[in-house]
Amino acid sequence: TQTIFSGIQPSGTLTIGNYLGAMKQFPELQDEYNSYFCIVDHHAITVPQDRLKLRERTRSLAAMYIACGIDPNKVTLFIQSEVPAHTELAWMLQCVASVGELERMTQFKDKSEGQESVTAGLLTYPPLMAADILLYQTDIVPVGDDQKQHIELTRNLAERFNNRYNDIFNVPDIKIQEVGARIMSLQNPTKKMSKSDDNQKATIYLLDDPKRIEKKIKSAVTDSEGIIEFDKDNKPGISNLLNIYAGFTNKSVDQIVAEYEGKGYGDFKTDLAEIVSNYISDIQQRYHELYESEELDDILDQGQEKANKVASKTLKKAKKAMGIGRVH
Ligand code: ATP
Ligand code: MG
Repeated sequence: TQTIFSGIQPSGTLTIGNYLGAMKQFPELQDEYNSYFCIVDHHAITVPQDRLKLRERTRSLAAMYIACGIDPNKVTLFIQSEVPAHTELAWMLQCVASVGELERMTQFKDKSEGQESVTAGLLTYPPLMAADILLYQTDIVPVGDDQKQHIELTRNLAERFNNRYNDIFNVPDIKIQEVGARIMSLQNPTKKMSKSDDNQKATIYLLDDPKRIEKKIKSAVTDSEGIIEFDKDNKPGISNLLNIYAGFTNKSVDQIVAEYEGKGYGDFKTDLAEIVSNYISDIQQRYHELYESEELDDILDQGQEKANKVASKTLKKAKKAMGIGRVH
């Protein structure tokens, strides 16, 4: 069986972008693949985090994975910082990566733009992400469209390491959803929706209540034309809403456009708000049950143990190939 790996940062409450771009496909994949799902807390600290909130969000994210349909008996669900091999291999891969290629990453450019001071970790984020993936000899990485460039870099680092030292790492492929791979901000539909966006109105969180969802969708930026059609370049706002609609109904965009022929944005938005609220209310219910349960700690303990076993094996091989430490 092939292996998949995917990580999410505990950097905020999950958004419908995280869900449609990444999480939605996890339950479908878990039966077919050897699956690793990770809460990447070391990635979250590349930007400032409140210590107590970070802890809370880490636990919250674990509960959310399961609430979205991950079966802890089928997958390995774990916290990145509890498997030290990730940061060790990350260092080694930083010594394979060049500063130039890291500076070219659009995520680094976006997140450092306008900041007075940027951490070194924000620049070296991609080698850590490469380590996450490569430690499990991953075949496929199911992520959103925004991670394309980082996966390409992961492939390059794996190949470079393999050629320079020894053939240690499997070179992984990306897997991107047909619908929902890139959900945009509701307030600026040329920018992707992000859980760490300061503008709450731009983002629908998986824990939002129906009223808030309706308010946010109603005030989503569209255009003055009033015709429901998909045109990403000229009508990014309504196109984004069509994508969200498609993601939560499994109808195609064409089908939805046909259904709303002659109708206005108002009707469309009202329906969409109801669809999103209904869909995520089940997730929310499961989430609240899990968050308080002790079961969650048992699941994360088991995940830590299993991930450590696999990761330390790969790390040992990589160290040997590089000549780090003694051979034993
Ligand atoms: P942050 O703003 O802190 O970077 P984020 O919302 O970008 O948070 P990540 O933890 O960086 O979330 O990414 C988790 C997963 O969600 C990744 O697979 C990523 O590709 C996916 N993802 C993030 N934003 C979107 C989006 N707007 N549309 C689709 N997928 C997304
Ligand atoms: Mg992100």
